[in-house]
Amino acid sequence: MNVLDFKVPEFCRISWVSQEADKTWSHRSNLISESWLNFEKELICTGKRQAAMQFTKLADLPALQSWAQEHGLALLIVGNSPLYGLRFALTRKPYEFFEAWSLGKLADIGYLLGYPECCIKAFVENWTELKRVDTTWPMARETIRHIDPRYDFSKKIHSITVNSSPYTSTMLHWLGIRFVPHLPCSFECEQTIRQGKENANAWKETGRKEVVAWAKEMLSWPVEYTALHGIAEIKTPIVRITCSTDPTVEKYTIRVQGTQFPLLGAPSLTRWCVPSNVKVDTWTDNGFSTEDVMIEFHAPILEAVGARVLEGIQRVIDLGCGNGLLLDKIATLYHIDPLVEVVGIESDKAKVSRGRRHEFVQFVTRNIYDVDSSQLKGQGKIKPTLVLLSTQRLKEATPEQLDRFLPRLLDIGDELMLYGYGDFDPAWEKSFVVEGWARTATGKDLVVLKRAS
Ligand SMILES: [Zn+2]
Repeated sequence: MNVLDFKVPEFCRISWVSQEADKTWSHRSNLISESWLNFEKELICTGKRQAAMQFTKLADLPALQSWAQEHGLALLIVGNSPLYGLRFALTRKPYEFFEAWSLGKLADIGYLLGYPECCIKAFVENWTELKRVDTTWPMARETIRHIDPRYDFSKKIHSITVNSSPYTSTMLHWLGIRFVPHLPCSFECEQTIRQGKENANAWKETGRKEVVAWAKEMLSWPVEYTALHGIAEIKTPIVRITCSTDPTVEKYTIRVQGTQFPLLGAPSLTRWCVPSNVKVDTWTDNGFSTEDVMIEFHAPILEAVGARVLEGIQRVIDLGCGNGLLLDKIATLYHIDPLVEVVGIESDKAKVSRGRRHEFVQFVTRNIYDVDSSQLKGQGKIKPTLVLLSTQRLKEATPEQLDRFLPRLLDIGDELMLYGYGDFDPAWEKSFVVEGWARTATGKDLVVLKRAS
């Protein structure tokens, strides 16, 4: 991220997509943020946390001071934001806090506030070393590292699509909607998810079940975050936030694939997302008994695809892609500059329509044995292509289908990954070698063949 050497004055503008959305959700949003602040205070009162930091208006300060005194808490004013008001810390350990604050020991403050170690480390790096005011982009980048530890970050990335748990999402923190007080290191930070769930349960026990449910719903909506020239825009189906961020010359986009789409939502704000109110069973369509089994079988394939991308593959075609979930993962990991094109071929239209559908996955509804290379190579430049094919699909084909199909594969792909989900049949490799393919790599339950040029 190329950040310019100046600070954009702090600002934040909130707009709701319709009067109805405003009436329902701005009211709920205010209740959530107010209730969260009270809940945080309660955590200090009950000794579950050592310290908390919040903002207050000057006019509310006397009442806050007497409240703190009543509860035996110290109140330290540590800053003043023209936008949010006085920044204060509430703590039972005022000396430790004051010392850490005055010496600028951010990590010590983080520990006093009870933040996870990984998130403190990321915050110190972004805030102190890189001088960032907005940690959203570093957080998304760290999420990619979480999915693929070998990802090559020397490449420029400008667009990242992630899945986020409501407990790690910071996308609505400008509205005060959150499950943790800190800025997590990644959208997949396990420590944050654990703390967020604990907080949600404890928050519910304060009698605010409804408010907690709204917070969870809002943080499960799809979100698009863009940042350019110091202005960030955060779009959800219900609310749009425009605020200051680190000034960059180039545009950065983060998309969080939500799991819930609100009834009053305007799809135009998140056009790339498929509205869905239900969690979709993504594994049965793809022939797995549970989600865990599917994740386990997808892992070696994802790793092998990553290795081929590093070797110059620019297009991945999955023959018989089911609902496209494997492609969804491939697109999440590899549809980053340079863009890897991701295409799925599937004859079952219903399966395709049930897919969660990463915005960059293209689907062709067609019987894989009749797939026509001209359709696939019709658009744009011909790119080095990797074809994914399960040996199970070869077993299912009739001899006539195979006679047509095998020579066509030579035409479609430069490389062919034959794989199985615990049922990989290595015998198929031989028939491909006869057709003019040579082995380049092998992995768990898979082999990669290269077309002899
Ligand atoms: Zn973390």
